[in-house]
Amino acid sequence: TVRTGEQYLQSISNRSKVEIYVMGREVKDVTKHPFLKPSVMSFKATFDAAWEEDTKELGRAWSPYLEEEINRFNHVHRSPEDLAAKVKLLRKLSHKTGACFQRCVGWDSLNTLNIVTTMMASKGKTEIRDRFVEYLKFVQKNDLALAGAMTDAKGVRNLKPSQQPNKNAYLRITEVTKDGIYVSGAKANITGVAATEEMVVLPTRAMGPEDKDYAVAFAIPTDSEGVKIVVGRQLNDARRMEEGEIDALPYFYNHEGLVIFDNVFVPMNRVFLAGEWEYTGTLVEIFSAYHRQGYGGCKAGLGDVIIGASADLAKQIGVDRASHVQDKLTEMIFLTETMYSAGIAASLNAVKMCDNCWWVNPMHANVTKHLVARFPSQIAQLSIDLAGGIVGTAPSEWDLKNPKLKEYISRYLQGAEDFTAEDRLRMVRLVENVSMGVAFQIESVHGAGSPAAQRIMFTRLYDLNFAQEVAKKLAGRKSDVKFTPKAEPWRDSQSESEAKEL
Ligand code: SF4
Ligand code: FE
Repeated sequence: TVRTGEQYLQSISNRSKVEIYVMGREVKDVTKHPFLKPSVMSFKATFDAAWEEDTKELGRAWSPYLEEEINRFNHVHRSPEDLAAKVKLLRKLSHKTGACFQRCVGWDSLNTLNIVTTMMASKGKTEIRDRFVEYLKFVQKNDLALAGAMTDAKGVRNLKPSQQPNKNAYLRITEVTKDGIYVSGAKANITGVAATEEMVVLPTRAMGPEDKDYAVAFAIPTDSEGVKIVVGRQLNDARRMEEGEIDALPYFYNHEGLVIFDNVFVPMNRVFLAGEWEYTGTLVEIFSAYHRQGYGGCKAGLGDVIIGASADLAKQIGVDRASHVQDKLTEMIFLTETMYSAGIAASLNAVKMCDNCWWVNPMHANVTKHLVARFPSQIAQLSIDLAGGIVGTAPSEWDLKNPKLKEYISRYLQGAEDFTAEDRLRMVRLVENVSMGVAFQIESVHGAGSPAAQRIMFTRLYDLNFAQEVAKKLAGRKSDVKFTPKAEPWRDSQSESEAKEL
């Protein structure tokens, strides 16, 4: 099924059982609440994209499980081209939202579980594989909005889950019955969660046998009993309550939430890991690389928005032909296209993990995310440079609309005659919110793992011995170099956990 954005909105409005808190108050209808509405609308864009002319082709995919067309956000990648389509779609969606649209974490979680449950099936755990395939079909059939919930509260970072003074610092299984499992703990920084229908929950790090109660993966409806969602605050968030059309975020935004699990029951047919600690390292690594690849699309798309706004603002004040302005725009283009190129490389150099199932190239995916941890702040800096101090000092929309001030502000905010003061204020606000917003600044650094996690992967994946052999040959110290590719370290690794501990 390919749902429309409207069908999605109808489904998530007025859920009576859901427990969501925004700034201390409970919210039932997330589609109407001013704080969450920009985020819901950004999520909705992923549904609309499957119907809109310019994204329809990228926004849909063919499901061999259902033998019908589905929204690409619930698709299991079947080729390197599928992976490249993901990056292309994300870039285009950023143009429609100017924000993170929050649906990729759930998508990456499905693809991760697809690979991991296939590995489990090859070791005899076919029942878990069957459960996952049934769940995948259910998600695709109903075109559900998924969250991926991975990061735990984590407590003391240098202690393992089982060593923590707070037993629930990592989400854990508290009871197993013949019908299912009970879990308690919390998942933090969960992107878009209040706007979702289902949560796919995964472990956040590699674990050992002593941590087996924490080796847990499952899927449940977002409105399951015992689940509490606490939505986090963001820069400028109170402006949404103003209901203006310039200052109050007329475009979209994303949100993150702390998800508390207070003795939540998960039926057995929704449980994908319950104690199988030996798969946790691989799972984390597969997920991280998938999500790191995606950033090459969505963050490049936000780069385009900022480049466009900066170029327009330069025109508005008559400096667009100045060579230093051109040079800054050129640098922003270079930074943006570099992030995108890495994301495409991570896709087209994909790794085949099973029949018709493809993982991204782990080295290039990690490079993509590492670039994304650095470049958005440089792009933002250039956009502030070009926009001028007005990004931090502009009068409010309300001043512009005040009859006593309107004429003055219109005159003193205007630059070139082809543009109005309102044109300028709108563009300044766009630069302010997108350049310095959570999605472009904070998520770019920490989303899908902090920079240190990528650097650990570089040293692990790069074949330093081979490089030394190559150098020795060229230096005349050795005549014969045999290429023996490094073993595939992702198949048996615990290294991501080292990164997560930092
Ligand atoms: Fe998708 Fe990018 Fe948001 Fe992650 S940060 S959910 S990849 S839009
Ligand atoms: Fe993210």
